[in-house]
Amino acid sequence: MDRLSVAIVGAGIGGLAAAACLRRVGIDVTIYEQAQRFARVGAGIQQSPNAVRVLRRLGLEQQLRDIAFQPAAALNRQSDTGELLWERAMSAASEEKYGAPYLVLHRGDLHAVLASAVPDAVIQRGRKLVGLAQHGSAVRLDFADGGSAEADVVIGADGVHSVVREALFGAERPSFTGRVAYRTVFPAALLNGAPIDDQAKWWGPDRHIVMYYVNPQRSEVYFVTSTPEPDFTQESWSATGDMTELRDAYRDFHPTVRSVLDAAPSAHKWALVVRDPLSRWTEGNIALLGDACHPMTPYMAQGAGTSIEDAAVLSRCLDGVDPDGVATALRRYETTRKPRTSEIQALSRANDMNRFKAANELVYGYDAWTVPLA
Ligand SMILES: Cc1cc2nc3c(=O)[nH]c(=O)nc-3n(C[C@H](O)[C@H](O)[C@H](O)COP(=O)(O)OP(=O)(O)OC[C@H]3O[C@@H](n4cnc5c(N)ncnc54)[C@H](O)[C@@H]3O)c2cc1C
Repeated sequence: MDRLSVAIVGAGIGGLAAAACLRRVGIDVTIYEQAQRFARVGAGIQQSPNAVRVLRRLGLEQQLRDIAFQPAAALNRQSDTGELLWERAMSAASEEKYGAPYLVLHRGDLHAVLASAVPDAVIQRGRKLVGLAQHGSAVRLDFADGGSAEADVVIGADGVHSVVREALFGAERPSFTGRVAYRTVFPAALLNGAPIDDQAKWWGPDRHIVMYYVNPQRSEVYFVTSTPEPDFTQESWSATGDMTELRDAYRDFHPTVRSVLDAAPSAHKWALVVRDPLSRWTEGNIALLGDACHPMTPYMAQGAGTSIEDAAVLSRCLDGVDPDGVATALRRYETTRKPRTSEIQALSRANDMNRFKAANELVYGYDAWTVPLA
C-alpha cells in the first residue's frame, strides 16, 4: 500500500498537533505555514485533561508538566466584592477525577513543545496558501510565492480566516462578537507582592477577566479579558491596547483586579470573533481542523484543546487508509467530531458559569484516543 501524503496548511497548535498525530501512524506530512518565524506573543493558555490526554500519547506530557503551572483551584469570583462563587478543584483533584492534569502555561511554550514533536524539515515557512484544486484523488496547493505542491490529502488548519475553508465553501467573514480580549503576560515581580489567586475568573455584569500564573515558579502572570467594544474592528496579534482605556473599563472591579491591571506594562487587544457551526468540514480529500472549522469564544478555554482532539481523531480515521479511502475517512472524522465541537462552541458562547459547571465531565472526560469513531 502506498503511504499517504498529507499537506497541512498552518503550523498553529492544531496543525502541529495534527502533524505529530499523523506521523505517529506512519503518514507523511508537510506543513505549509505563512509566517517566516514563530513569534512568542504574550498570552497564556489553559490545557484541560481532554487535551493533555492527547499530548500524553505524543510523549509530550513530562515536558509540559515541567514548564506549566498547575493551580490548586480555579476560582470564580464576583467582580466587585470578590465573593467566591464557585471553586473548581484542579491539580491533584483533576488528575484523580479525569486521569490527566489541568495545565496552564505560556501559549508560546505550548507551541514550542508541539513543534518539538515534528521534525523541522517537514515545516515549510513563508508558504502562504492562495489556492487549492482537487484533481482525481490528488490535491494541488498554490502559494503566494508562485510555488505549488501536491498531496493525497489537505488539512486546513489555517485558523479562523481559513483560506482552505473559503476555497471549499466560499467567502464568509466570521462574526464579531462586539467584544475584545486584552491579554498579556508580564513579570509577577511587578505586582510588588500584591496577593493574587493561582487562577481566577472575575465575573462582572457584562465583562470578565481571567488571570493565572503561567509557570511553576509563579514568576509570570497572564490575564485575558472579555470587554464590550462594539466599534472595534482590527484583528491582529500586534494590536496594542490602550492601558488607560483598559483600566477604566475595569474601574468597578475589586482592588485585586485593579492592582494587576495597574502593574501590567502593556497588553495586546484582540477582536473576539465566532462562527456558527459549519454544515460541512470536508470536501473530497480536503478537510478542516481547529479554528478553521469550529472557532469559538475563549470562555471555556477549549479552542486549542478541541483542535488537539481533532488531530487525534483525524489520525485514527486516516490510519491504514489508502488514497481511494481518503474521502470516506475524512467524512468519518467530521461525523465523529462535529457534534462535540458544535456543543462546546454553543456552551462557550453562552459564558454561563452554571452551564460550565454542569459540562465539566463532558468536556474534560473526553478521550480522543478511545472515543468510538462514527
Ligand atoms: C483571547 C483568547 C484566549 C484563548 N485561550 C485559550 C485557552 O486558554 N485554551 C484553549 O484551548 N484555547 C484558547 N484559545 C483558542 C485557541 O487560541 C485557538 O482555538 C487555537 O489557537 C486554534 O488553533 P489553530 O491551529 O486552529 O489556529 P491558529 O492558532 O490560528 O493557527 C493557524 C495557523 O495557520 C497559519 N495560516 C493562516 N493562513 C494561512 C495561509 N493562507 N497559508 C499558510 N498558513 C496560514 C497562521 O499563520 C497560523 O500559524 C484562546 C483564543 C483567544 C482569542
